[in-house]
Amino acid sequence: MAIIEVKDLKKTYKIGTVSVPALQGVTFSVEPGEFVAIMGPSGSGKTTLMNLIGCLDRPTSGIYMLDGVNVHKLGDAARAAIRNRKIGFVFQSFNLLPKSSALKNTLLPMMYSGERRDRSVARKALESVGLGKRLHHTPMQLSGGEQQRVAIARALVNDPPIIFGDEPTGNLDTTTGKEIMAIFTRLNDQGKTVIIVTHEPDIAQYAKRILRFRDGLLEADTPVENRTIIE
Ligand code: ADP
Repeated sequence: MAIIEVKDLKKTYKIGTVSVPALQGVTFSVEPGEFVAIMGPSGSGKTTLMNLIGCLDRPTSGIYMLDGVNVHKLGDAARAAIRNRKIGFVFQSFNLLPKSSALKNTLLPMMYSGERRDRSVARKALESVGLGKRLHHTPMQLSGGEQQRVAIARALVNDPPIIFGDEPTGNLDTTTGKEIMAIFTRLNDQGKTVIIVTHEPDIAQYAKRILRFRDGLLEADTPVENRTIIE
């Protein structure tokens, strides 16, 4: 069964009397364990799509099934709960709490999901991204790459089956970006479904499949040839 299934998804923004058709009927599905890169020029609808499949916004029409659940039929609380269980988010600008330690930042999704705040799980998540010795550092005391590792640990702490990255290497230099993509690749090798938005072809080359958007439509859906392999 698909873990993500989108059928004829449409989203139109209304600004006063003007309608902006950001997504004009998009259909695709993602199986568990896939590694997908979403590409397309600015304004093609990538962010709108990520907001919909990340359960952060509702479509104008169409169906979205997340692991078999029609999420947009759910109320806000149930939708937030399923998002918290199923999806870990990693953003371009890390989105860490500036005054909180790496450990506290990693614990956050557990607080939201009402789980017992289990520091040992957060510590293990940080160790898994190579930050076992940085538990008590605040974001300011960490490099950009380390901050993104904290964000990845935070995304992993509820053990969701899906990891979303929105331009996860956009604020990083090339070498650090490669290190972050190596972590995404390893997570995918371990069975996570990974979906990243990127406009960098080098970054998309780590994925197994590319979905290309243009003008709110899915323009191409292609497997990645000569995928970048992590040594
Ligand atoms: P991308 O992420 O590929 O740059 P977006 O999904 O951000 O594309 O935008 C798709 C279209 O929808 C663009 O024309 C954009 O201007 C418009 N749009 C996006 N968000 C909003 C919004 N909140 N209100 C109005 N128009 C929006």
